[in-house]
Amino acid sequence: MRFASSNELDARNEHCDDARLGSLSHWPLRLTFLLLALISTSSLPAAANCLLDGCVRGGSFELASVSRTTGDSELDARIWTEASGLIRAFEIQPSMLLYDDLEAPNAFASVQSTAAGHFGTVYFGRRLISGLLSTEAMGEAALVVVMAHEWSHILQLANGFPDQAPSRVRELHADLLAGWYLGRRNLAPPGNVSSLAVPIYQHNGYHDLSVLSHGSVDSRTMALLFGYQRAEMPLGAVYQMGLEFVLTYL
Ligand SMILES: [Zn+2]
Repeated sequence: MRFASSNELDARNEHCDDARLGSLSHWPLRLTFLLLALISTSSLPAAANCLLDGCVRGGSFELASVSRTTGDSELDARIWTEASGLIRAFEIQPSMLLYDDLEAPNAFASVQSTAAGHFGTVYFGRRLISGLLSTEAMGEAALVVVMAHEWSHILQLANGFPDQAPSRVRELHADLLAGWYLGRRNLAPPGNVSSLAVPIYQHNGYHDLSVLSHGSVDSRTMALLFGYQRAEMPLGAVYQMGLEFVLTYL
């Protein structure tokens, strides 16, 4: 989904629905002002583990055993079915690849496209996927949240989320959009969202990340819940409202 006219992005992204977004066409400028105001009072944290953006655009990262399969055909079917749902909901189609996250369970988004006709690439570690699915407290909903979080980063990249934005803002905004998607999937009743969020964000490895770069578990849970409770809203509206919520309250 695209929120603003941009010749450069229009040329490489066929998933825009500009006709529905006319009233939002000027919001990135507003976003820039909001972010600049915040950046002026914040130090910039180091790049977060789960988001590789412009700094690796040159293709300098290496991953082990990159492919489109987990090695388990049943699990592959679940993941790729979810990916189809994410493409429809977020109206953007990145490539999706799996790899062996040998050092720590992880997932991340890259602006680099690895297939023609796609925007960016999301990478999911096989250890992360199996870890999320192996605990009763998390399971399928947790996998959905993590996948939606990375899809949200792709959406941010496609919409020019400023490079200077503090990592924490970017991450909490992605958490919020993941909550929005979870709500649309109706996988967890509202009372269970918090109990789902905490183990995800404390999950060993994937979120062995600093509060500075990702926000506290409480902030992340609040962001997820905020998005979940607004599942009926259009994506463009929750994208903007969610950013203002993160900047104002988290
Ligand atoms: Zn992230």
